[in-house]
Amino acid sequence: MMDDGREAILYRDGRRGHPVITHGKGATLWDTEGKAYLDGCGGPFVVTIGHGVTEIAEAMRAQADRVAYAHTVRFVTEPLLALSRRVVALAPPGLSRVFWVGSGSEATEAAMRIARAYHLARGRSSKHKVIGRWGSYHGMTLGALAMGGRPESRRALAPILPNLPHIPPAYCYRCPWGKTYPGCRIDCAEALEDAIRYEGPENVSAFIAEPILGSFMGVTVPPPEYFPRIREICDRYDVLLIADEIVTGFGRTGRPFAIEHSRVMPDLLTMGKGITSGYAALAGVLVRDSVAAALAAGPPASLGGHTYAANPVACAAGVAVLDYTAKHQLFDRVIPLGEHLFRRARAVLGALPIVGDIRGKGLLMGLELVADRATRTPFPVEAGVAKRVADRAFDKGLYIQAGSGWADGLPGDYPCLAPPYVATEAEIDRMIEILAEALREVQASITN
Ligand code: PLP
Repeated sequence: MMDDGREAILYRDGRRGHPVITHGKGATLWDTEGKAYLDGCGGPFVVTIGHGVTEIAEAMRAQADRVAYAHTVRFVTEPLLALSRRVVALAPPGLSRVFWVGSGSEATEAAMRIARAYHLARGRSSKHKVIGRWGSYHGMTLGALAMGGRPESRRALAPILPNLPHIPPAYCYRCPWGKTYPGCRIDCAEALEDAIRYEGPENVSAFIAEPILGSFMGVTVPPPEYFPRIREICDRYDVLLIADEIVTGFGRTGRPFAIEHSRVMPDLLTMGKGITSGYAALAGVLVRDSVAAALAAGPPASLGGHTYAANPVACAAGVAVLDYTAKHQLFDRVIPLGEHLFRRARAVLGALPIVGDIRGKGLLMGLELVADRATRTPFPVEAGVAKRVADRAFDKGLYIQAGSGWADGLPGDYPCLAPPYVATEAEIDRMIEILAEALREVQASITN
């Protein structure tokens, strides 16, 4: 490795070199060698308005000039007030408060704490467990990891994770009950009622789910009846519904928040990533009126907090990103551009035998790779197919997220595409071309 500072970093995955990125514009990043990378997932589903937008940098600089830090334990700042108002206006009506934090994992853990505080405030002190789903991802801190259900992420830390229950996900391509939608009973939703009864409703505080599962299950969209049924079950047992919209929020699926596709009101909604489009670290939890009212009526309680929550420079970035999004009507681009993405993907990628399923919504698309399309047999784990596809694409100048590991707990390969909303149709076509080349090459290397 070069002796230029890169040797001083402990990498999350040290098996490959890491090019030094010098600048970005729109959907493209460039490194010191002049090589261009199409940012096919905007990092891990972060970048919406594109790289290198001068207005955002100017807004952040102006805020840093005025004040860059004021602790939220005592103060609020102007960009924090402006952003809170803007986010509440964008959210489904009834989600009227924001609890600010600095990252997605902090947001999902804060949601867990808020749910607990809600039940304590109402004198239901035994309610403490959060039920999650296998295949979900809610972050890497221990509470978030415990709510999540990705076996590979959990394995090493399993002995020290809080022991929280999980139910199977809504995963029609491989229905855990062997059924086919429509015609099933939406057993994946009914499983929540069983889990609440087994745990004892008096012990269950909340249920957490992504409205559309992100990279680790290849953008799995639940049947339309799923969340309405989940809502009914939560209401029956006094269990809060947490929608984790860290990936799907801020327009990614064609609505400001993806839970709106189900017309269901969550009690808590976690958001992050797209809120600043990657210009600064910021995340939060939208809180329903009834929950905020119960907290206010209960005995005084601290929800805890984080040092960098609602940092003024990050909030200024958030306001500037929302301004830019509105000015250029970027949310309106998501559906037509997404239709183009899916049309091209079905035509080009759908023709490859290795591609078993293409799914998603808006500008959030996942593939499920299979060794045999007819039987939907996944590749063995040791073949590391998703990673190989991502590596080939990267070498060819396309960065993508490629999840793995949920076909039946371990195998499963899911390359994804989630371009910034400013990507052009030509850039999307090029992303698909490169991904197709990578898939063909990996397929050839497996069959030869
Ligand atoms: N929730 C979901 C659905 C996510 O996809 C992620 C990150 O990918 C997180 C939570 C955690 O966010 P962060 O990496 O900012 O902690």
